[in-house]
Amino acid sequence: MVAVLQSVDELEALLKDRPDQSRTYKIDPGVVDEMIEFIRSHPSGANSRTMDPAEVEELARYLDVAVEDFPGRLTVTDIACSGCGRRLTILDIAKTGVDNGLHSRELMAAVLTGRAGQWVTVRGKDGGRFVDCAACGLESVTPIDDYACSPVAYAWA
Ligand SMILES: [Zn+2]
Repeated sequence: MVAVLQSVDELEALLKDRPDQSRTYKIDPGVVDEMIEFIRSHPSGANSRTMDPAEVEELARYLDVAVEDFPGRLTVTDIACSGCGRRLTILDIAKTGVDNGLHSRELMAAVLTGRAGQWVTVRGKDGGRFVDCAACGLESVTPIDDYACSPVAYAWA
């Protein structure tokens, strides 16, 4: 069940009274421009970094898309796995969701390439998303509280 945000007011209300769990919402196509403008004026991710080309390629391979299919740079909270030291990326977020049955690989591919429109992730009271390391399987000690796949999906502190 996909929740659709139809106005900036709805997003603001969610930020004032956050959901228990971090959640991704689809943005109504009619309000994408104002929504993106609002999101950009409230930057998050002080601890974020840009994924490097090898990481983007790894994600593209996992989602079975081309690197060029991503419409912009990919950023993610800069944390490393406490088990094996892997720097976590959007791949770890995507794979954790797929492995836990939250969404299909096809849906993740459609969302992250922009084929499925614009989305925003609202950080919940849980502080973000704990993810399982794609290399060793260990769950992250701290949550990923920001990621962006411009202009497709924003997770937003
Ligand atoms: Zn690991």
